Amino acid sequence: MSARNGIGRARRVGRTGQVGGSNRQAFRNWSGHVHAHPHTFASPASAEDLSEIVTRAAADGDRLRIVGAGHSFTPVAAGDDVMVNLDALSGIVAVDEAGQRVRFHAGTRLRDIPALLEPYGLALTNQGDVNPQSLAGAISTSTHGTGLGFTGFAGTVTGLTLMGPDGQVRNLSATTEPETFDLARVSLGVLGVITEVELQCVPAFDLIAEEKVAGFDELLDGLEERMRAADHFEFYWFPHTEKVLTKTNTRVDPGQAGPGRLAEAGVRNRWLTLLDKEVVENGALRVAVEVGAKVPGMVPSINRLAQSVVSDRMYRAPGYDVFVTPRRVRFNEMEYALPFAAGAAAIREIREVIEAKGWVISFPLEVRCAAADDVPLSTATGRETMYIAVHRFIKEDFAEYFRVVEQILCRHGGRPHWGKIHTRTSADLAGLYPRFDDFCELRARLDPEAMFGNRFTDSLFGVRGRSV
Ligand SMILES: Cc1cc2nc3c(=O)[nH]c(=O)nc-3n(C[C@H](O)[C@H](O)[C@H](O)COP(=O)(O)OP(=O)(O)OC[C@H]3O[C@@H](n4cnc5c(N)ncnc54)[C@H](O)[C@@H]3O)c2cc1C
Repeated sequence: MSARNGIGRARRVGRTGQVGGSNRQAFRNWSGHVHAHPHTFASPASAEDLSEIVTRAAADGDRLRIVGAGHSFTPVAAGDDVMVNLDALSGIVAVDEAGQRVRFHAGTRLRDIPALLEPYGLALTNQGDVNPQSLAGAISTSTHGTGLGFTGFAGTVTGLTLMGPDGQVRNLSATTEPETFDLARVSLGVLGVITEVELQCVPAFDLIAEEKVAGFDELLDGLEERMRAADHFEFYWFPHTEKVLTKTNTRVDPGQAGPGRLAEAGVRNRWLTLLDKEVVENGALRVAVEVGAKVPGMVPSINRLAQSVVSDRMYRAPGYDVFVTPRRVRFNEMEYALPFAAGAAAIREIREVIEAKGWVISFPLEVRCAAADDVPLSTATGRETMYIAVHRFIKEDFAEYFRVVEQILCRHGGRPHWGKIHTRTSADLAGLYPRFDDFCELRARLDPEAMFGNRFTDSLFGVRGRSV
C-alpha cells in the first residue's frame, strides 16, 4: 500500500472466494494518488464466502481491507495483503415500511439506492455531491452532504451487521449491543467487515434548486443566517475572484408547489439538467484546470470567466437528482469539519494566505454544513459543523497548499474528513473526539491482532507492532 508507489503480487479471487489464478490486481483510488498491489483481491458473492476469506486471512496472519468504490483520497481502504470488495453483496435485505427503515447489503452503491427505494416511496435523508460510493464506505468515513437540519449518512444508521476476525457476525443496534453499535457507525473498516446497514429513510421528496452568484464578503457576513434559512445550502468560491456560486435547495413533496417565488420552478427536463452538469460543471472546469495547469498565470482570469459564465438558475427534480453531480475532472481533496461559528473566519484566512503566498488555485473552495450528531467518530459529533474543502487538479502538486490550509483549519478546531487527505495522527485525533479512546479500546477488543487495518489506519488509531 502506498501513495503513488506500491508494488507487489496479486492473486485474483473469484466470486466464490477461491483463488482463481495469478493475475495481478492493482488497486488505484479515484484520484489515482493511492496505489496498492495486494496478493489477493476478493469479491465474495455471499456472507459464507466472505467469512471464509476473513478466517483464512486471520489464519495466514494477513491484514485485510474492505474497499468500496475507492473514492477515498487517502490510503484508508488500501491493503498490501488481502483486499475485499462487496459489490456482489448489494441490494435490499428487508424493509420496515411503517418505520421507514431499510436494511441494505453493505456493498450497495449509493447510485443504485433511488431505484431500490422507489417501490416503497422512500429516499435517503440527505446526500453528498456524488453517488458511486458504497453504503458501507460512505458511513464508515462519515460522508456528508449539506444542511444544518440534517446529519451525514452515519447519523441515519439504525442497525449494522459486523463480521469479526473469526468470520462470525454480530447484529448491532440501539437495543442489541448498543455500546458497540454506537461506536461502529463510523469505523473506517477497523472494527471488522460491515455486511449489512439499516438506515432511517424518509418519504421521497423533490428539491427546488436555486443557483446564484453572490459577493464574497456579503455572503460571509451573513453566512450563518443563509445556512440556517435553507434546507440545504452550499457555496463555491473561486480563488482570485470576489464572487461565490451559491446553491440553495428547498425540500418539497412530489407534486406540491414550492413556497412563494419557488412555485415557478418547473420540473426540469432531465437532459437539460444533465447538459448543465456535464457542460457547465465539468466541461468548463476541465478546460479551466487544464489551461491553468499549463499556464498558471491565466488562472485568475479563467476563474473570473468561470464565475461570469455561471448564470442564476432555478429548477426542480427528485432530491437524489439535484444532490448529485458527476465529477469527471479528477482532483485531490482535503476537507475539514469546523465548529460552525469558526467557518467564516477560517475561509477569510485561507483567502488571505492564497493571496500572500501568490499561489494560483484553479479549483474552488467548497463550503457546506451539517447538524450535530451523536456518532462518536462522526466529524460532526456533538457540534454543528461547517465543512471547508480545498481541491487540486490531479496534475498539480497539492502538498504545500494543503499543508498551509490544514494549519489554518486545525487552529480553528477542525476535524479532518476520514476519507480525504490530511496529516493528523492518533495524538491529534484524541483531542478532537471525546470518545476517541473508547473507540480505540473497542478496536483492540474486537480485533486484537489488528487484522483489519493498514499502516495508515494504524497511525490514526495508535496501533503498534504490525509489520504492514
Ligand atoms: C469525486 C468525489 C466526491 C466526493 N464527495 C463527497 C461528499 O460530497 N461528501 C463527503 O463526505 N465525501 C465525499 N467524498 C468522499 C467519499 O464519500 C468517501 O471517501 C467514501 O468513503 C467513499 O466511499 P467508498 O465506497 O469509495 O469507500 P472506500 O474509499 O472504498 O473505503 C472507505 C473506507 O470504508 C471502509 N469500508 C468500505 N466498505 C466497508 C465494509 N463493508 N465494512 C467495513 N469497512 C468498509 C474501507 O475499508 C475504508 O476504510 C467524495 C469523494 C470523491 C472521489
